[in-house]
Amino acid sequence: MKIHKVSGSEALSFSGCEAKWMFAFHPGFHLESKKIGPAITRGNIGHAALEVFFKEFMNTSSVDKAKETTTSHLTNEMIKDLSTGEAIRASLVGEVVTILDLYFESDTFKHFISNTHIMGSEYSMEMYVTDEIILPGRVDLLVYWTAGLEKGEVQPIDFKFVYNFWTENDFFYNSQIPTYVQLGKINYPHEVVRRGGIMQFRHRKDAVERFKLTGIKPSKPDIAGIMDNHIKISQKIVELKELPVEEARTKVTRTLSKYTCSNCSFLRLCKADLNGGDTTEIIKYDYQPNSYGYDNMDEE
Ligand code: SF4
Repeated sequence: MKIHKVSGSEALSFSGCEAKWMFAFHPGFHLESKKIGPAITRGNIGHAALEVFFKEFMNTSSVDKAKETTTSHLTNEMIKDLSTGEAIRASLVGEVVTILDLYFESDTFKHFISNTHIMGSEYSMEMYVTDEIILPGRVDLLVYWTAGLEKGEVQPIDFKFVYNFWTENDFFYNSQIPTYVQLGKINYPHEVVRRGGIMQFRHRKDAVERFKLTGIKPSKPDIAGIMDNHIKISQKIVELKELPVEEARTKVTRTLSKYTCSNCSFLRLCKADLNGGDTTEIIKYDYQPNSYGYDNMDEE
């Protein structure tokens, strides 16, 4: 039997726009844009730097050594960008250097690092949601609180590099943390897993408050509803992935809304595809194979 892996991000992409999901995840396309905007680039640089920091901290238990290794990683990134003419990316690396320098000096960080044991960075967990579908997830950080109000809890933590902090509504429909909490519950059945955290790094230059760790404690019905939604979406995804791309493209719907489409990295490809035009040249020059995704597997 074939076992399919459908992540929360893939399901979220599908619920945002089925065509966008198809371009990014159907095996017949499986593309990502070669042009990545500054927000995503800054986030990627920041996530990679934090991974370097926390992995080094896990190995050495030394904040100073971890900071040193992170600085050297970011310096190498900047040198590489400058030598290859990637001046914009180099300036984003510079922004991340500033943000992380401030973070490591902040009370938010000092409280966090002295009250937690880091269990994993870029930590993968999985669970079966049906007999043939696995929900995989990779959390930015998995921690065990050794002191403070959440002492004794295992928590997944997600990093966000933001211009402004999220509003209450942004947290209201967040499915990522409830999903991670459920993955934590299944993978650590003997631990207390009831909360996850979103650690925001605010890069707005005139911001006074730069860092905020917000704990989210999803209720059981919240988690059940989100899991149910994930299963329904995953089943549609699995059906579409089994179809040849020519057939899948006749089944997916397109959101075609100003709000969603204006920021869509598949805008030109989608328009050409919708009009029945030749998309070969657009794909060749503007897209590359999607670097994100989980391989399905065959069960004996
Ligand atoms: S341009 Fe709009 S309709 Fe087309 S894939 Fe993107 S979001 Fe979907």
